[in-house]
Amino acid sequence: MLESLGARVAPLRGADDLVGPDGVRVDAVLLPGGESSTIDKLLRMFDLFEPLRTSVAAGLPTLGTCAGLVLLAREVEDRAPGQQSLGVVDVTVRRNALGSQVDSAEAELNSTLGPVRVAFIRAPVVTRVGTDVEVLAQRDQQVVAVRQSLVTGIAFHPELTGETVFHRRLLSDIRG
Ligand code: GLN
Repeated sequence: MLESLGARVAPLRGADDLVGPDGVRVDAVLLPGGESSTIDKLLRMFDLFEPLRTSVAAGLPTLGTCAGLVLLAREVEDRAPGQQSLGVVDVTVRRNALGSQVDSAEAELNSTLGPVRVAFIRAPVVTRVGTDVEVLAQRDQQVVAVRQSLVTGIAFHPELTGETVFHRRLLSDIRG
């Protein structure tokens, strides 16, 4: 998605990768969907958890999708045993709130960035929104997209439906 929008993209596998091949720090980070407890374990195993937390907290533009939203949240309900989160967005997120794999669904949402068509897969919802957090979208009165400063967390997958608005916003956050 990001490459199709003109960005240069590299995987983040260790703290050194926060600095690109040209010695310049990365401009933005995307925390993908997947399984938040596994991503958390890998972040800690590869000594990336703390450097990433510090960078995002210091203002690195960041987009977290689905499991990525869980990782960004200050508090996580229904965590896996020992699961930690980066705690950089002042929200509480309930993991797997929208059901299991068979409950996956596409949905049209009216977001503050306009109407979007996205996919929910074992998706979390936001159950508490901190005072400095903006709500970007709701689904059936449940908060599913939030933003605090330059950090955006969305409970769904925009890439599966080809919805580019959140990725474009991440790139414009860099320029901004
Ligand atoms: N349920 C997963 C988790 O807790 C997220 C699922 C997804 O990213 N599609 O991390």
